[in-house]
Amino acid sequence: MASAETFDLILKNGLIIDPANARSGPGDLAVRDGRIAAVQGSIPDAKGKTVIDVSGCIVTPGLIDMHCHICQKLPVSSDTLRCVDADAHMPQQGVTTAVDAGTCGWRDFFNFKEEVIDKAKVRILAFVNIAAGGMLSMETEREPANFHSRIAAELAAAFPDIAVGIKTAHYRPEPPFTEHYPAWTSVDKALEAAELCGLPAMFDVWPAPGRSYEDLLLKKMRPGDIHTHVFARHIPVLEADGHIAPYVLEAREKGILFDLGHGAGSFSFRNAIPAGRQGFFPDTISTDLYTDNIAGPAIGLTHVMSKFLSMGLPLDDVIARTTVKPAAAIGHPELGTLNTGSCADITVLKLHEGSCGYTDSEGKRFSGNKKLECIAAIREGRFLYNPGGLGLPQWDEPR
Ligand SMILES: [Zn+2]
Repeated sequence: MASAETFDLILKNGLIIDPANARSGPGDLAVRDGRIAAVQGSIPDAKGKTVIDVSGCIVTPGLIDMHCHICQKLPVSSDTLRCVDADAHMPQQGVTTAVDAGTCGWRDFFNFKEEVIDKAKVRILAFVNIAAGGMLSMETEREPANFHSRIAAELAAAFPDIAVGIKTAHYRPEPPFTEHYPAWTSVDKALEAAELCGLPAMFDVWPAPGRSYEDLLLKKMRPGDIHTHVFARHIPVLEADGHIAPYVLEAREKGILFDLGHGAGSFSFRNAIPAGRQGFFPDTISTDLYTDNIAGPAIGLTHVMSKFLSMGLPLDDVIARTTVKPAAAIGHPELGTLNTGSCADITVLKLHEGSCGYTDSEGKRFSGNKKLECIAAIREGRFLYNPGGLGLPQWDEPR
């Protein structure tokens, strides 16, 4: 006789927020064989092998950190960006998919895949840096001779399950631009590579005389390309009178995407709060996590999400910016959703209300009133993070 236990896992009585399906309300969620099997008002306990009551918690698709740095590599040279360990730092912040934002160039990508991506429990996707050495040897990001659009494109095309786009960063933050160092060369090469492999490009570019933010957004970037570090102090999202620059709104209208990329030096309340008050928030909320910001001010994705909740962005909108929106931006619509049949990546959160403080990259403080806590992170039906022992037997139960 067939077992009555139809599902491997049922999460009961949660507040289910699944912006991909415009769902936001109480309900139960069931998992079978690593996939979402049902999301509905009520699922009988008898149908689950493991049944967990998540009353008072929020159940969302597994969170996606759209911009972080997890390409660990030894030996570390003096100009290597020091990365974090994805399994150590992502699940406790609710992240089941971590997108490395171009730490690695084509030169080291195979090693990154073999040594980090293939061995991690967290799903890792990656932008490929247009510079040969990426941020593992940042001097290559500053030298046009190291930008190889055809090689970067072919590498991205060779790993379609991992590579999600092309990245350029850290190229000549200051003029002068010369014949040897043209103002736009890293942008142009990244765009060329992105065209060749049919993926978006992500830009970390310092505006400078001869290389304006307006021109980057309106003359260079294509719909679906991503500008990251949107609320960094050096990004002129606001005009002198405090209003959002009209060309920023025009770019959004055109389909240009804006990513937060908090980082150690790329999040300023002086930009973020006035922009938010005018209704301008990033399309995707991400940490830009690396070792220099993990103890603050970025800390992790739920911490960064909590800043936006406290700044007044509604909960469902914050969840959308860490689930369905990044999934769409990186061309993986099968992620960031609780669609029946999709992989069972699930995050369980608790929202705490009460006074709390947050910091930014300029050493400034903001008084908040909301804080998210990660209760559990599940990838394909298996717990990556479960500090409270959800679903486990009590210690004194007979074996
Ligand atoms: Zn970054």
